[in-house]
Amino acid sequence: AIVTRFAPSPTGFLHLGGLFTAFIAGRLAAQTGGRFYLRIEDTDQKREVEGGTEAILEALRAFGVTFDEGTGEAGERGSYGPYKQSRRREIYTAYAKDLMERGLAYPCFCTEEKLAAMRAEQEAQGLTTGYYGKWAVHRDLPLAEVRERIEQGQPYTVRLRSPGDPARSVIVEDLVKGTLTLPENHQDIVLLKADGLPTYHLAHAVDDHLMRTTHVIRGDEWLSSLPVHLQLWEVLGFEAPVYAHLAPILKQQGASKRKLSKRKDPEAAVSYYAERGVPPEAVLEYLLQLANWTFEDWCREHPDAPLTDFALEPGRLNRSGALFDGAKLEDTAKEVVARMTAEEVYNAALAWGRRFHPAFAGWLEADPGYAQRILAIGRGGTKPRKDIAKWSELPAYIGFFYEEPEEPARTKRIQARMRLEQARDIVRGYLAAYDEGEAAEEWFGTIRGLAAELGYADSPKTYKKNPAGFNGHTGDVAMVLRLVLTGREQTPDLYEICSILGGSAVRRRLAGWLE
Ligand code: GLU
Repeated sequence: AIVTRFAPSPTGFLHLGGLFTAFIAGRLAAQTGGRFYLRIEDTDQKREVEGGTEAILEALRAFGVTFDEGTGEAGERGSYGPYKQSRRREIYTAYAKDLMERGLAYPCFCTEEKLAAMRAEQEAQGLTTGYYGKWAVHRDLPLAEVRERIEQGQPYTVRLRSPGDPARSVIVEDLVKGTLTLPENHQDIVLLKADGLPTYHLAHAVDDHLMRTTHVIRGDEWLSSLPVHLQLWEVLGFEAPVYAHLAPILKQQGASKRKLSKRKDPEAAVSYYAERGVPPEAVLEYLLQLANWTFEDWCREHPDAPLTDFALEPGRLNRSGALFDGAKLEDTAKEVVARMTAEEVYNAALAWGRRFHPAFAGWLEADPGYAQRILAIGRGGTKPRKDIAKWSELPAYIGFFYEEPEEPARTKRIQARMRLEQARDIVRGYLAAYDEGEAAEEWFGTIRGLAAELGYADSPKTYKKNPAGFNGHTGDVAMVLRLVLTGREQTPDLYEICSILGGSAVRRRLAGWLE
């Protein structure tokens, strides 16, 4: 069985690409009955944020990403821990010591200033920058000098004594990218930093080995470090895992594409979707569309299957980045919401409201039956309405069921369509004809009858020639009623609205507006 992991740094921010990586790694393990664990990579203490781990855990949980083992809210689970790198210091030190004893690593006392000067010099000479070859000046310090410097308390890092040669190639089979031929690493990279904590490189190899990871699934920004990692597996004497490097999500900027960026794009943060109440399934479904070119075909063939039935094949993931399209995500979300039952919408919208819009949650909780009748409008049937993409649209969308439409905005909207006197005639006429017991068909007949009686044309095609000279047709009559009752131009079906509001509320709103 395969073992995969998600290994975020606790910066308190979960990137859409991170969610995707976690989702894929979790799915791959689940598909084969394997294990999926969470490891917290907190060795860069400058970047660490208070509560960062909890924020990431919560975001992942909201998207249904759960772990078989690793760091969790209730502490740690699993027998391969600790799963937090800051608690594994001794383990990394032991491996670094072992490498030093075997002559495969050494302490380096070069200061930041010295390294910067070296880099400048290399750049000036047009050379590859870094610590290698003759530039690796502390590679062969005499043992006595090393001892003396350590005794004097000089800070040092531990570097790999790289056996590589960039003229030689390593060939590696990446599950996503295919066969890669890369130059060997020849840099004496840092394994342990001066603060005694490991670099990503050392921690990656040690932890993924000790935690028996079989498949390392990560972003392809790590591809350039792959030769270093392959070398580390070798010098450490570990068997290398299978790698799957995922392409990033891209964003169009002018004529070019760039990575969706945490700094520039608010929609890069997973929290963006939670705050707006985009259903998590919609985000995941969209990510699958972006990442896997066979997914949309699969959806057409399996319209009723849950997302989790889709078997991911890393070989079918996009090798280079796919373009993020907010409008397409919005469409996917509308489809997802349209498929939900009123009860599902109620529960999800209530959970969102409790966190982000308490007044809205209050409406829903006050009378769940009423709320669910509202949310059921246009749902089910063969052509469900696809008008809601996120719960944050609902307070405005259904607010008129809970509060009278606001003035003077309502009247202004009506006046934009016709003279006030005309609108008042429509409302008066409807009040006289309104019968709350009517079925949808009869009700529609009533509206049509009223329009004819007041001299409106029956359709937009004929109204221009209307002998009575009114600037409108049956649709405008219904629109005036809609505006008086709801204050909005875009609403669900007006007949349904009237039946849910109930006869007395409908009459009160209509008569109230006439006053
Ligand atoms: N902590 C690394 C990151 O956040 C993990 C990369 C990996 O999965 O190995 O990019």
